[in-house]
Amino acid sequence: MDGRIRGVAGVVGCNNVKITHDWGHVEMVKELIRNDVAVLQTGCSAIACAKAGLMRPEAASLAGKGLREICEAVGIAPVLHVGSCVDNSRILLAAVEMVNEGGLGDDISDLPVAGAAPEWMSEKAVSIATYFAASGVFTVIAEPFPVMGSKVVREYLTKGMEEDLGGMLAFEKDPIKAAHLMIDHINKKRQALGLAEMMYDPVEAPARAAVPAT
Ligand code: SF4
Repeated sequence: MDGRIRGVAGVVGCNNVKITHDWGHVEMVKELIRNDVAVLQTGCSAIACAKAGLMRPEAASLAGKGLREICEAVGIAPVLHVGSCVDNSRILLAAVEMVNEGGLGDDISDLPVAGAAPEWMSEKAVSIATYFAASGVFTVIAEPFPVMGSKVVREYLTKGMEEDLGGMLAFEKDPIKAAHLMIDHINKKRQALGLAEMMYDPVEAPARAAVPAT
């Protein structure tokens, strides 16, 4: 609320042979944390970022100044592991607590949060991304679901759904562009909630750097 953490992202899902292994996950998560977005992870995405050292407290050095301050004060990493890929409901429970305990907004769709599956592959990921969006979370998928041949289904998932359910999907293969779709959405929700301006200018965030050696 005070503008040190911009928002929270759930970055989850598989690896995919169409994308260099782990690249989508690691690059997206590094871009999110350097823009002060705390990240919750599950499944193979969590393992990708753990291997890259992003789940160690030292990874706070890759975060923007606001998120880094919180991580250093509490002694946590900017990227947290919350379970296997079938535990994504835990991320939604965290969002529910942001509304109930934190008093932010009236619904998950009011929150400065977003979801992503940068390398999804399995059918399970299709159902998880859909229930995230149907629960009110803006969710970015890399490789589009095989719905692009249907204008009606594609437009409902990527536009109309938001009006009915508060959340929707976006398809973006570039993990940095996808991260910025999420950051733009988080900024929009912060503005709608009347939250404080971010405490630190994003230009103060560290330049993108190699992850700490594991
Ligand atoms: S469905 Fe399989 S590949 Fe995808 S995140 Fe879960 S365990 Fe990993």
